[in-house]
Amino acid sequence: MDVKEKYFASLRKKNLRITKARKAMIEVLQDNHLTFKEIQNRLAEKGFTNVSTVYNNLDFLIEQKIAVELYIDDTKYYDLALDNPMHNADSHVHVIIKDTNQITEIANPNIFSFIKSQPEFDDLTVDYIRITIAAKKKK
Ligand SMILES: [Zn+2]
Repeated sequence: MDVKEKYFASLRKKNLRITKARKAMIEVLQDNHLTFKEIQNRLAEKGFTNVSTVYNNLDFLIEQKIAVELYIDDTKYYDLALDNPMHNADSHVHVIIKDTNQITEIANPNIFSFIKSQPEFDDLTVDYIRITIAAKKKK
């Protein structure tokens, strides 16, 4: 199943409406980490120019744990949260490549199991793991 179809299915399962604007927002966020301004611009290109609709739908997607907010270098980005079990609303590892400000993800579940297997967590349940790594291109 296409990634965005998974998101639509998850909304449907909860009996939530998949409006055109919500659909467009999920499409815009797929494979992207965007600031609010960038989301707004891309949605405007698709004909969704009402800023409060953008705000409301983004809030809605965050509430439904379909989108997440990420703070990277004091900038807030938005990202889809369900695309794989290891990059969900609660746990993700992001890499920011400083030369280009590009954000990528490490989608290796072993990282999460390794962290959770540390003796410090023997008596604890981990709520979330959020890691941001800054990197530069090797010269
Ligand atoms: Zn991400």
